[in-house]
Amino acid sequence: MELLCCKIGDGSKALFWLDNWSGRGSGPLKDLFPALFYNERNKWCVVKDRVIYGLPYDINWQWKQPPWHPTIFHMISQCKQLISPITLQIERDKWVWGATNPIEFSVGSVRALIEERLLPYDNFKIPWIKWVPLKVNVFAWREGLDRIPSKDCLIKRGISINSMCSFCSVHSESSVHLLLRCGIASSVWDKVFM
Ligand SMILES: [Zn+2]
Repeated sequence: MELLCCKIGDGSKALFWLDNWSGRGSGPLKDLFPALFYNERNKWCVVKDRVIYGLPYDINWQWKQPPWHPTIFHMISQCKQLISPITLQIERDKWVWGATNPIEFSVGSVRALIEERLLPYDNFKIPWIKWVPLKVNVFAWREGLDRIPSKDCLIKRGISINSMCSFCSVHSESSVHLLLRCGIASSVWDKVFM
């Protein structure tokens, strides 16, 4: 969620302490200044409740008890410094997505980011042939990824079985052997290409 950031407009949507709005990657203020958050009277306040329109250096703090310790005063100063570049605008707050090149939040942008960051990269492609049944294309795709349940794949997944080829019982059964190199498979291919 640290990738989701609010670009402050009128400050009416972003939660002052709980949302990530003060700067890309800096996180919510509650995590940066936990002692101040503890002393906040309304933990669900929005940005415009604290940041005064047109006065970026003045903050409308609402403390449970007046700040009492030099460390607290130092934190207040740091917090003001962090958010001082942000001023309230006329337009509404806008959620942006992405750490390096923020773009406006949308389902499509989330999907693209998940694909980019979380899904394993795989550049394996097979030609999709329309005139054969779908299951044949899927089988070829799985075979290309070495994902058909040949005996060596099943053994890798912890299944205890005899590793020898089901056709010839001479070689271990990999997908390549099963489909290309086995004598039985070769004789089938010979008939296909006769
Ligand atoms: Zn064989």
